[in-house]
Amino acid sequence: MLFSDIAMTLEILEKTPSKTQQATTLAQLFRKTPKEVIDKVVYFIQGVLWPDWKGLPELGVGEKGIQKAIALAVGVSESEVEKLYKTLGDYGRVAERLKASKPSKAMGLLSFLKPGAVETRRKLTIEDVYNTLVKIAMAQGEGSRDTKIKLLAGLLMDAEPREAKYIVRFVEGRLRLGVGDATIMDGLALAFRTTRDVVERAYNIYPDLGYVAKLLAEEGEAALRKLKPQPGIPIRPMLAERANDPREILEKTGTPALAEFKYDGERAQIHKKGDQIWIYSRRLENITYQYPDVVEMARKYIKANEAIVEGEIVAIDPETGDFRPFQELMHRKRKKDIYEAMKEYPVVVRLFDCLYVDGEDLTVKPLPVRREWLQKIIEEHDEFKLAEGIVTNNPKELEEFFLRAIESGCEGLVVKALHKDSVYQAGVRGWLWVKYKRDYRGEMIEPVDLVVVGAFYGKGRRAGSYGALLMAAYDPDTDTFKTVCKVGSGFTDEDLVELPKKLEPYKLPYKHPKVDSEMEADVWFEPAIVAEIIGAELTLSPIHTCCKGWVKPGVGISIRFPRFVRWRPDKGPRDATTTKEIYEMYLRQQKKPVGSSESI
Ligand code: ATP
Repeated sequence: MLFSDIAMTLEILEKTPSKTQQATTLAQLFRKTPKEVIDKVVYFIQGVLWPDWKGLPELGVGEKGIQKAIALAVGVSESEVEKLYKTLGDYGRVAERLKASKPSKAMGLLSFLKPGAVETRRKLTIEDVYNTLVKIAMAQGEGSRDTKIKLLAGLLMDAEPREAKYIVRFVEGRLRLGVGDATIMDGLALAFRTTRDVVERAYNIYPDLGYVAKLLAEEGEAALRKLKPQPGIPIRPMLAERANDPREILEKTGTPALAEFKYDGERAQIHKKGDQIWIYSRRLENITYQYPDVVEMARKYIKANEAIVEGEIVAIDPETGDFRPFQELMHRKRKKDIYEAMKEYPVVVRLFDCLYVDGEDLTVKPLPVRREWLQKIIEEHDEFKLAEGIVTNNPKELEEFFLRAIESGCEGLVVKALHKDSVYQAGVRGWLWVKYKRDYRGEMIEPVDLVVVGAFYGKGRRAGSYGALLMAAYDPDTDTFKTVCKVGSGFTDEDLVELPKKLEPYKLPYKHPKVDSEMEADVWFEPAIVAEIIGAELTLSPIHTCCKGWVKPGVGISIRFPRFVRWRPDKGPRDATTTKEIYEMYLRQQKKPVGSSESI
């Protein structure tokens, strides 16, 4: 197929604002496209060489490279190209303009770039264009910059002005057609007499529009309908709508519903085929190499030969086992040595869905069936297990579970429908899943000074010391110490070694009568030592006794992701931050003009 036909269609598309009209134009093009190249045509219109998830190289030609290639192809200086760009603001149009005005100048260069070439231009086909672009992308290593430029210049030399415009824009990564995947799918549906839903469903479980187009063109709609998830091919993730009222949430999902912790990590779609494991991100990037530890877990704990499961990878504090915020995963990603990063930022996986097992497509099954499969094929361990969840039809119970989720360092809940139509809607944001999320308000501005009233034994590297301390605020009205949080982060190794010695003089065989705690510590202390604590923010808590009942009946105030800053030897226990001050801080935080207010 001649590339000029495609370029002409692209020009029409560019001038057509209506999406319906664009789909009709695309359908005309697809109808006359030979089946064997329709994938390449679709990729070109998408502005890609292949789907991102394949992890293949990108074109890698920058602005300077484009300038040089245009200059070479039309036989002008780079500064002339640059000058024209300043007026037109689009290298595509620069190439088009120069090709139209200087058709013959480049002929002298032809023999340099293509020895033996005659002065007649070949007519470019879509294969010529696509295959050369692939060669440009594949040119890697030493000298590849020049190779890429020469290949592009060669292509531009053969191109007609209009063709040059779109080739350059493609390389620049900006086709400027205003045609999205949805319109291409509409065009395919029109061209091959099927519905957009059928095309979209296929694309959602096989996110490669070139492949889907070719399958449809060659084998018809029936082949798309038969398309099933396959290990190694990512599935577009099902997404959640958002609501903040437990009653409304349950109305949306229907009851009973499954409420699960919404872990604050990275979504992972884990594929297994025998020994081979792939991990795909929410955006379908292949992130397998970033998580050798998760790959190992998947190999060991997924008991099916082939499976696709979904879960959240969450960073944990290696000492306490507590969840760490999402940012910790980002630190991990920034580290060059992945094995180093793994040690420093260990992760766990919490699984929440199962899309495929040994040949069976589970995306079409309701959630209870998928959960059953998940239970069946996962050998649960601390580091790799199912998301924590409850089945409920009660808004109050949902609210309590939400508080527990926050308390555990999660973002809130994802509440999921369990009825017969609760299928896995790949690529769709719908009301079958509703997220019930707390709002982020950034770092707590003011640190607080809290009193150590108890401690929990450490594990692992902290064996022999304490893993976390139970911290309390002072309530002058009752002269008691009310718990605010359990803090295990922020201590240096020296702090940790010192902890038991430092606290030994205050150890008690019972809870001090002035300490008001619902949490059972391993060791109790007389309120004496004060520490400065900072955290992500103040949050409501069903466990801690600080300000209990002040905001809501039965609910106290706690600190999310608390961190030890330093000891405050200059403060006595009754100089610690008071419960009233914490309440005021909470109210101030609520007034901050970010997002909606806390919904509970
Ligand atoms: P957000 O930024 O709120 O995470 P999102 O657009 O990435 O939103 P949504 O589908 O709207 O995705 O929200 C659900 C997200 O929460 C999932 O993408 C997933 O990463 C995460 N998550 C954590 N725990 C769960 C769970 N138990 N079930 C489903 N998703 C969960």
